[in-house]
Amino acid sequence: MSLLNDPEVKKALQVLKDKGVQLYEIELWYGVAAYQSKSNDEIGIFFCGNCGGTINKELLNAEKPADDCGNCGFNEWIFEPTGEERLDKDSKLDILNSFGLTEYDCHGGVLHYCMIENKPENIEKLQQIGVPLDEIKAVVSKDGKEIDIAKFVFTYGEAEWFSNEEFLGYTP
Ligand SMILES: [Zn+2]
Repeated sequence: MSLLNDPEVKKALQVLKDKGVQLYEIELWYGVAAYQSKSNDEIGIFFCGNCGGTINKELLNAEKPADDCGNCGFNEWIFEPTGEERLDKDSKLDILNSFGLTEYDCHGGVLHYCMIENKPENIEKLQQIGVPLDEIKAVVSKDGKEIDIAKFVFTYGEAEWFSNEEFLGYTP
């Protein structure tokens, strides 16, 4: 059955038509909506179906914002995939363990800092595990040579333990 005959889709299209949305726009939106049901692991940007405002952060399709749009107060988020998929935990740990730490301080069960070289390859790896660029920039050392990834390894990186200079995905 064509999704265009689906009563829910028809209803949604009528809402858009009532708002004066042109047909080619409806097809675009419809394409996004159809895509949306496909993959919850996909990363993308949510934008407001009313005013077009975006949430300035890449999120999983499954992480649809609960908040209303900050611009117009509507709660109609449209998901636009960026074509990437979020890495699984093991792949993230592989990346964490591929950095080669320049310096770290771990005592009392707390990773106080954990430095890696500030170079494009490492920034790209951090982005691969989902760290936004502005968060990376915020933890670059004063001399610009290193990045402190301590804040990221147990959150974005999904590590659960650090010992013998290795990030583990479990608590030993
Ligand atoms: Zn809005």
